[in-house]
Amino acid sequence: MGDADGGTVKAGGVEEEPGRTTESFRDSMTIVTKEGKRSWIYPKQPSGRYYRWRTILSLFLLAFLFGMPFVRMHDAPLFLFNVLERRFILFGAVFGPHDFYLLAIALITAIVFIILFTVVFGRLFCGWVCPQTVFMEMVFRKIDYWVEGDHRQQRRLHRSPWNSQKLLRKGTKYLIYAVLAFAIGNTLLAWIIGTDHLWTIVTDPPSRHIGGLTAMLIFSTAFYWIFSWFREQACILVCPYGRLQGVLLDKNSIVIAYDYRRGEPRGKLRRGADRTKGDCIDCDQCVEVCPTGIDIRNGTQLECVNCTACIDACDAVMDKIGKPRGLVRYDSATAIATGVPRLWTPRVIGYSVVLLLLLTVLTVLLANRSEVDVTVLRTPGMFYQDRPDGRVSNVYDVKVLNKTFMKVPVTVMLEGMEGQIEVMGGDLAAEPQGIAESKLLILLQRGQLAGLSTPLTIGVYADGKKLHTIHTSFLGPGVQR
Ligand code: SF4
Ligand code: SF4
Repeated sequence: MGDADGGTVKAGGVEEEPGRTTESFRDSMTIVTKEGKRSWIYPKQPSGRYYRWRTILSLFLLAFLFGMPFVRMHDAPLFLFNVLERRFILFGAVFGPHDFYLLAIALITAIVFIILFTVVFGRLFCGWVCPQTVFMEMVFRKIDYWVEGDHRQQRRLHRSPWNSQKLLRKGTKYLIYAVLAFAIGNTLLAWIIGTDHLWTIVTDPPSRHIGGLTAMLIFSTAFYWIFSWFREQACILVCPYGRLQGVLLDKNSIVIAYDYRRGEPRGKLRRGADRTKGDCIDCDQCVEVCPTGIDIRNGTQLECVNCTACIDACDAVMDKIGKPRGLVRYDSATAIATGVPRLWTPRVIGYSVVLLLLLTVLTVLLANRSEVDVTVLRTPGMFYQDRPDGRVSNVYDVKVLNKTFMKVPVTVMLEGMEGQIEVMGGDLAAEPQGIAESKLLILLQRGQLAGLSTPLTIGVYADGKKLHTIHTSFLGPGVQR
C-alpha cells in the first residue's frame, strides 16, 4: 500500500523492500530486511474495546509494579525476591534456603500452569500481562505517539534529515525514555533488595555501594536499550516463552485468528458493485496496527504477541461496512474450521490432573510449614552425667530458626514425664530472621530411665502456643559396660 509521504511502505508500517510480499511470510521476518538489516516498525495506534480494556488493566499492573515495593507488613516488604541472598517474601511470609523444596515445587507447579494455560489460551499472557508488552505498547509506544505524532508522522520524522525539529522531538522522546528506564531499573532493584536498602544506596556515599550502584546502572541501561532500540525483537527473537509456542499450541488452542472461511476470497470493496467476495475487504488495517508487523490473515505466527490490536482494527472496519464483528477474533483453528470449539482434549485433561496434584501437594506443604523451626540433638561425643543428688543428666544442642519479622522467645518442656530442663546461657530467643543456638541440660531421676536409652518427648512453645513436638532419647547408666 502507498505511504503518506510517497515512500514504499508495506502495510503495518514496516519499511518495505522490493519484492517482499505477504506471501513470503514463511521464510522471512517483518523486522529484518533482505540485506539482514533492522526494519523499523511504525504501527498505527489501535483504538477499540480491547485496547481500552488493555489500557485499564495496564494501569493496574503498572500501579502494582511501582507501588508494591512500598507496601509493608510487620515493618518488612509484602513481597521481596532477593535472589542474591536466596530470601523471598510472599504475602509477608519469609522463604529462605531452608524452604528450597517449597520453591522447587512452586516452580514446577508454575511451569505446568503456564503450559496448561498456553495450551488452552495461547499467548493471552503476552498480550495482556507480560511486562514487556505492557511497557512497550502501553507506555513507550504511547510516548512515541505523543511526542512524534501518529505512525505516518513517526515514519516521516525517521526518514527526514537531522534538523532542529527532529533533534527536539527525538531528544525529548529519548530523555523521557531515559527517565522511565531509570525508574523501571530502580523499581526492579526495589523488588529484589527492598526499598530500605535501595534508599540507603541512593543516600549513602557512592563509594559504600559500588555493587548496588552498578546494578542500578546496568538495569536502567538495559531497560533503556530494550525499549528504545530492541523493542519487538525481545518478543520475536529472545523470549523463551514465545519460542515455546510452536510446541505448546495446537489447533484447539484459543489464539487470535482470522476467520478465513468468512473472509475469503478477500477483495477490495467497490462502491455500488454487488459483493461476491468474502467479508475481508483487504484494507490492511489489521496489519497497519500490528506492533510486530505481521499479517494475521496468514495464520498464527511466532511473531504474534496476541495484543488484540488487529481485532480492534478489523472490528472497526466491519462496523463501517455493516458486517458482524469478529472476522479477526479469539478462537481456535478447530472452531474456525468446523464451527465447534474443542476445549477438553486429552492433552488438557492430562495437564489439568498433574496441575491439580501439584497444587494439592503445595497447599498441604504450605499449610504445614512452620514459621519457627526447632531442632534438639544430643550433643555429639557426650554420654550421661551422674549428678551428686542422684539424678542423671544429658546435654543437648538446640537450634531455633526464626523465619518471622518478630523476636520469638521459645520455651521447652518435657512431655509425659517428670524432669527438669535447663537452658544453658539464659533465654532461648531468636531474633527476627535469625538463628538462636544454645544447650539444654535435661535431668531425670534414675528410676525414670529405661535402660541405656530412654525415649524423650520435648514440647516447644512460643507465646503459650505449641510449635513443635520433638522426639529424642536420653542416655542412662545402662550404656556402661
Ligand atoms: S482489517 Fe479485517 S477486513 Fe481489513 S484486511 Fe484485515 S481482516 Fe480484512
Ligand atoms: S497479529 Fe498478533 S501481534 Fe499483530 S496485531 Fe494481531 S494480535 Fe497483535
